[in-house]
Amino acid sequence: MTALTLERLRREGQAFSEEISREGYLAHAGHQPTADLQPIYDRHSAILGEGALDFTLDLFRSSAAASEERRSARYLLEWQIETQAARDVVTLDEREVAWESAAVIDVAGTRRIPYQRASIEIANTRHRAERLAIDDARALTAEADHAPLRLERVQREKGYIEELEIATTYIETFEAVTGISLPGLGAQCADFIATTQAMWDDTLPYFLRRTLHITPGEATRADALALFRGKEFDAAFPAGDLEPSIRRNAAELGIDPFAGGRITFDLAEREGKDSRAFCAPVRVPEEVYLVLRPHGGVTDYTTLLHELGHALHFAYADPHYPFEYRWLGDNSVTEGYAMLFDHLMQDRRWLLRYTGLGKNNMGEFVRLAAFEELHFLRRYCAKLLYELDVYGGRTTWEALPDLYVETLSTATGFRYRSADAFIDLDPRFYSSRYLRAWQLQSILAHSLVSRFDEDWFRNPAAGPWIVENLLAEGQRETATELALRASGAELSFDPLVRAIERGLTA
Ligand SMILES: [Zn+2]
Repeated sequence: MTALTLERLRREGQAFSEEISREGYLAHAGHQPTADLQPIYDRHSAILGEGALDFTLDLFRSSAAASEERRSARYLLEWQIETQAARDVVTLDEREVAWESAAVIDVAGTRRIPYQRASIEIANTRHRAERLAIDDARALTAEADHAPLRLERVQREKGYIEELEIATTYIETFEAVTGISLPGLGAQCADFIATTQAMWDDTLPYFLRRTLHITPGEATRADALALFRGKEFDAAFPAGDLEPSIRRNAAELGIDPFAGGRITFDLAEREGKDSRAFCAPVRVPEEVYLVLRPHGGVTDYTTLLHELGHALHFAYADPHYPFEYRWLGDNSVTEGYAMLFDHLMQDRRWLLRYTGLGKNNMGEFVRLAAFEELHFLRRYCAKLLYELDVYGGRTTWEALPDLYVETLSTATGFRYRSADAFIDLDPRFYSSRYLRAWQLQSILAHSLVSRFDEDWFRNPAAGPWIVENLLAEGQRETATELALRASGAELSFDPLVRAIERGLTA
């Protein structure tokens, strides 16, 4: 066997990542029923064993702090830990993909719908009793079959990472290899929830009454899906205009949304396709898939913009950068670009230009969008706080579902279900990436406005600048570094609170 070198780790790491990503794309887009992951791990076992981990750990520990070598080694080490832990649970992941694509729920003995379509059906159902019945059926199936798979995955992954003994605990290991302070971010989250409490209490009853004709005490998470589906605005967001309007926006911005053929849009309805949209970078930057299963209306516009941000980020990464700067790094950055684009759905000028919303219903729409932003931020803040409990080890596994319901329901005002305690959980604190991305997005938008004016999104000089100065960097920088470079600012929730306040009073 050839000895491991940095060059070989990069080359085979990239080949492995491409195969995993392609398999995931095919399965989650519904092109094949299962994901055959195990053989891919086996083929690349030379870079996925103890030797590779020790080699990477050594690269990390022997590199000078704040050097380019340290940066590169940090990303490779994080990837090694993540991938080796994933390898340990690969059979569980395969079972989950196969189960999800085949599972069917039985709604009160009257009709059967695929498990994966449940969230779409719940969001689109106008009749509340029907909506709650679908969610009851979904929760029963989730509790019986999905939750145990996920719980086992969470437990095994936690145990595996702790046994690596890179740091004392799961949380400390995450912090050691990412440089992200979780207690620091957790404190910001608790503060955000407290700071926005009065604003939340003032607005929640209004939106519940106006759209769903219910009071805060009754509201469930299923109602939240229906509320934010925004069906009353469907006429302004026709399915047929979705792709053309986003293409027109990209053209006016001076960016090719297909990146010269490197990006493929997969927007068709297909059985077996995940209801959760995703972007699959199969080769970076040469081959990127943007996958969306249509929900209808405003949701699809927001989602397409989000995934387009990811797709552009991958497809315009500098091809000369090493594997770790194109594929790895701080995912707060790619989520930040995704959110930079999806936040256009909160911008009056953008909405007037690219959607069917007119001046008459604009105020109502922008207020709902601000309310939704507040809801999702409070939800993600609560999620991170809950996940800190999951991995903190002070709460027993048995007590976590109740803690989940309590934490999420209190922060959002919508009643959550214990069945989702381990399903609605992002492994390896991915929620921290989303939260940092939210913060980064507001800094990036601010920097674009100061360079290209309020309507930067239709300034033909802005697109090429974004590609050259931001997207081409791939994920070499962390979100913290990028925020500093883009506008000398530190990541914080403060600008988001101000933007929400502006939106709610629009
Ligand atoms: Zn995303």
